[in-house]
Amino acid sequence: MELSHRITRINDGGSDGWDLFRKARRMIASGVPVVELTIGEHDIRTDPRILDAMDRAARGGHTGYAAVAGTDALRAEIARRVAAQSGVATTPENVLVVSGGQAGLFMAHMAACERGDAALYIDPYYATYPGTLRAAGARAIAVAARPEHGFVPQAGDIEAAIDAAGGPVRSLLINSPNNPTGAVYDRAALERIGAVCERRDLWLISDEVYEGQVWEGAHLSPRALPGLAKRVLVVGSMSKGHAMTGSRVGWIVGPAEAIVALEDLATNMTYGLPGFIQDAALHALRLGPVFEAEIAAPFRRRREIARRLVAAQEVVRAVPMQGAMYALLDIRATGLSGEAFAEALLERERIAVMPGESFGQAARGHVRVALTVEDARLEAALARLLALAGELAEKRGP
Ligand code: PMP
Repeated sequence: MELSHRITRINDGGSDGWDLFRKARRMIASGVPVVELTIGEHDIRTDPRILDAMDRAARGGHTGYAAVAGTDALRAEIARRVAAQSGVATTPENVLVVSGGQAGLFMAHMAACERGDAALYIDPYYATYPGTLRAAGARAIAVAARPEHGFVPQAGDIEAAIDAAGGPVRSLLINSPNNPTGAVYDRAALERIGAVCERRDLWLISDEVYEGQVWEGAHLSPRALPGLAKRVLVVGSMSKGHAMTGSRVGWIVGPAEAIVALEDLATNMTYGLPGFIQDAALHALRLGPVFEAEIAAPFRRRREIARRLVAAQEVVRAVPMQGAMYALLDIRATGLSGEAFAEALLERERIAVMPGESFGQAARGHVRVALTVEDARLEAALARLLALAGELAEKRGP
């Protein structure tokens, strides 16, 4: 039987960028000890207090269908949090609880784009972005953010992509703090991006799943900029900040009319999240900033380890690690592509990292190291990575 193009073209005939990850997983499954620094999965499990809340809720009977848009209490808590952090008036009607940031990204694009409209995203990008946009029926168009601009997109490049799109462009997806680059967009950058969205009448979809992991500067949501709230859909998540990746809880925050329409989509797609998971998420949010700082602390420490090791050699350069749980390393001095270097590192050192090319063209010649193993293991793995890069660069000659 024929499958729909909508499904078979999600990856546009190309690789989904996860080949090296899958190879590392196969090696691990066959008993090879590989240091896994590929994906953004915490090395800590969900906190027992959150699991207890989940258990209490389930045993207390919250196992039937729950409110599709999210329980009243959870929507209210998210609204309070977003209002406090951004200073923008936010009510439960501005909040839709969704199955993780990933579903939020898909749904936000369903809301913003007609089938066949263009949706812009920034390269380097989180691996699912182009597929998510295509799954939502949009034409996914990349806008390069270049290393020389600290991987922050430039207004002129966004405008040029709109002009070249050859059809209606409805949305721009940004992500700060950024995966994979670690860039945190400052106010001026967000103002320039917001101005383009206003001028060209685009939805601005703001992926803020790493909002709690900022090591330099401060997180600013574009929804907080004057006049922008009406065109911004914020995607948030409990995955990173609360170490709840497997619970699949996230949210979309936006104008009430958009949230009402998105609730229709949720009704016909997921029919909401399990009530006991929502109760656990509520409990987790109420653990407050001290808890979130605890979850973020290991990444803050490991980022310092990475900075120290990179500063002590000359071959590999680190992209400023301002936020999120990764180190993006520039290995161009080895003469290898990110893919070839990651392949060599896996074969020779049994260390798995993501090739920059998995995140688009702008991050080629880089590799992304997830700071997700315990400090001493990370330090040893990074030291071996840097030694291999040194060796390759020396072989290559000046
Ligand atoms: N956006 C970015 C930038 C991510 O890195 C991730 C997960 N790695 C997600 C969204 C999706 O996260 P989740 O669905 O777990 O909330």
